[in-house]
Amino acid sequence: MPFRDLPSRVAEVREKIAAARARGGHAQRVTIVAVTKTHGPEAVRAALDAGLSDVGENRIQEATGKMREVDLPVRWHLIGHLQRNKVKSLDGFSLVHSIDSARLADAVSDFGANRDAPVDALVQVNVVGEESKGGFGLAELRTEADRFRERRGMRILGVMTMAPLDADESVLRRVFSGARAAREILCDAGFPARELSMGMSDDYEVAVEEGATMVRLGTILFGARGGST
Ligand SMILES: *Cc1c(COP(=O)(O)O)cnc(C)c1O
Repeated sequence: MPFRDLPSRVAEVREKIAAARARGGHAQRVTIVAVTKTHGPEAVRAALDAGLSDVGENRIQEATGKMREVDLPVRWHLIGHLQRNKVKSLDGFSLVHSIDSARLADAVSDFGANRDAPVDALVQVNVVGEESKGGFGLAELRTEADRFRERRGMRILGVMTMAPLDADESVLRRVFSGARAAREILCDAGFPARELSMGMSDDYEVAVEEGATMVRLGTILFGARGGST
């Protein structure tokens, strides 16, 4: 059976999340998004069997391929960069975490308006201004808030961020508390921004301490991935 030890890994992660949540004091609900990228559809089945019904993919084509192969009652999350010319493939996703530019936001909103059902989405923020990553800075988010309100085909439910690779704890805390501040900006601007998607296999405990409501976990659940993603 593939991913035989997934249930025990999930149990261990859940314990660590509970402890981190207690330490952080944010009293939030935390959803594990099982990141199945590079793994076959059997990883999706294994996740569901282990009690995880939220599945994350970073590439839209890989994700839609798996959706066709497995017909399982999971919620699909798009967590990676989306090219504007692929927004038409967004049907089937419950949440897009990676709205990382105004132009992408326009395209996603147009798609949602055309199909007559808004796309649920998170605004990706880039707190420390990493060149290699997309996303809005905090100051930029303040000025963009009005424009997000005009995008009727998209519903902004919160914020997503990614910490720099191998960041030490002080940087992690700066990034994650910055994302929390970004969510506050959106709440103040009237959006129902409850979600804070942050934390991956190496940093999810710090993220939960800082208030994460969604952690995106791949390696720690399914083992190391082959390839470069
Ligand atoms: C791959 C990926 C993850 C999961 O990474 P792990 O370190 O394997 O847990 C989380 N978020 C995004 C955006 C990813 O692309």
